[in-house]
Amino acid sequence: MRCLLCQNLSAKLICKSCDKKLVISPKKRRSYDDFVVYSFFGYQDVEYLLRSKYSLIGSRIYKILARKAFLYFRDEVGDLSDSLNIFSIGIDDRVKKYYSHCGVIIKEFDSIFNPLFGTLIANNNICYAGKSLAYRESNKKDFVYSGKGNINVVLFDDVITTGLSIKEAREVLRKSGVNVLFALTLSDARI
Ligand SMILES: [Zn+2]
Repeated sequence: MRCLLCQNLSAKLICKSCDKKLVISPKKRRSYDDFVVYSFFGYQDVEYLLRSKYSLIGSRIYKILARKAFLYFRDEVGDLSDSLNIFSIGIDDRVKKYYSHCGVIIKEFDSIFNPLFGTLIANNNICYAGKSLAYRESNKKDFVYSGKGNINVVLFDDVITTGLSIKEAREVLRKSGVNVLFALTLSDARI
């Protein structure tokens, strides 16, 4: 097959030399109430790959990116012997065309955070891509949480843009007694 990025012949979806160029460029975004969202890849570097998410190979690409992010995170945070007391929740973690985007990501981090698959689902099945901030603000995702309370959680998403989804998700989780420590996203596409 051909490498997705450079089109050269390759045994893998992303060839060795492109894989090497896919470097982590960490970012930190702080919200109005000091909540921190960390991201791993420069948006321009992975925009093309993230767009594949609704295709058949999307889950394999998401796995490659999530794996790189995980390895970086593991090296950065050091000893994680107690961390399985911390749970991970993916935003709108359900199957959308073939697989769950956030499900793939929290699976890669499962040796650090205990995944609660499929517990935070959007009632309003709306796509924000390309929509204005005003539209996003007046069309909430209406998340429903079905997991347990009284736990510490790290929230996951693939991309952060305005940050509204994460904000709404946090509010829903907080009402269920969940303590959200911080969020991890593959990339930050600040607009
Ligand atoms: Zn390549």
